Amino acid sequence: MSKVAGLYIHIPFCRVKCDYCSFYSVTKFDTHLIDLYLAKVVDQVFFLKDKYQISLFDTVFIGGGTPSLIPPASLALFIDRLNLSGVKEFTVEVNPESVTSEFLASCGDSGVNRISAGVQTFSQKHRDIIGRVGQEEKVLAGLDLIAGAGFKHFSIDLISHLPQDSISRISGDIKSAAGYGIDHMSIYSLSVEDGTPLSDRGATEADEDLAYDQAFGEVVESCGLSKYEISNYAKADCQSLHNLKYWDMEDFVGVGPVASGTICDSQNRFVRHENPADLSKYLLQSSKFEQIVYSKLSRNEAIFENFMMGLRLIRGIDNLLFVKKFQALPLSFIPKTYDRFSEFFLVDSEFTSLTPAGRNILNTILVDILDELEF
Ligand code: SF4
Repeated sequence: MSKVAGLYIHIPFCRVKCDYCSFYSVTKFDTHLIDLYLAKVVDQVFFLKDKYQISLFDTVFIGGGTPSLIPPASLALFIDRLNLSGVKEFTVEVNPESVTSEFLASCGDSGVNRISAGVQTFSQKHRDIIGRVGQEEKVLAGLDLIAGAGFKHFSIDLISHLPQDSISRISGDIKSAAGYGIDHMSIYSLSVEDGTPLSDRGATEADEDLAYDQAFGEVVESCGLSKYEISNYAKADCQSLHNLKYWDMEDFVGVGPVASGTICDSQNRFVRHENPADLSKYLLQSSKFEQIVYSKLSRNEAIFENFMMGLRLIRGIDNLLFVKKFQALPLSFIPKTYDRFSEFFLVDSEFTSLTPAGRNILNTILVDILDELEF
């Protein structure tokens, strides 16, 4: 039986490493290497499409790394070779300080209908504190270019809980982002990861503070964007269809170093594929892509992941989708957890979700779910 799936493509190139970044990317590359890499990615897309009998990628997300470092002509050729059709949402992630009008024109001509810009913060002081690539003026100029390019959807990523943070810093960033006419915003908390230059110089993320979270949430809503996931906001009908596949645990394929994907097979088993975090290994493998590591999730692992991802959504877990995968409603698998935390759950015929107070203690609830599912 053929499948419809999402497609994530990782572009592992960055001009320089940001001090807080623990994602896999390389900073030594040239146009020749990019073209070599894109050719390998095309091969892997067809390899996985064939392996999982995928008839259609209805969402595509080219992320990174820094996709906007791909030369415009290489991007056009690459997308053409992917031979995509029937894509509902096609996102390319860009760094506004390095985006060009030629790159955006190439995206538009190739069917891209959504640009996601990694701003993180407009405050030069905070960009310097976290060592974020790019100067404020270049970021503003890049955002002007994107806003003027007329894509159907435009999203901006910001980071909260920075060192030396304040409600006025994050509120100012949100209002500046909204000023570009975006229909989607992601705001993730800074996480200072061991081994990054930011961690080496002893920086720490700002403490969790409900007043801060509530204040910036209200600012986003006042800009006309509604919260639909713990860290994501959108105008009506502009939620990210691709990211919803992650939260609903629907089929998606991941291509490129460190990219992973999960497919539910014909026996309702979740099969995961993971690529090596190594560009050389990735490029040197044969057309059988022997570096991919496959694993099967046990039934209870898959149920847990569905709770972990689905309860992040404000509307919650889609009951119908869940029953299709596991033949029973979500709460039937966790009666003890539900007994203990029933005041935090909301259940109707369509969805199983958490109240706002429940989402504040999501990790505590997930620990109980993990214990109850015993795997
Ligand atoms: S641009 Fe993004 S992926 Fe690249 S180093 Fe900075 S945070 Fe990491």
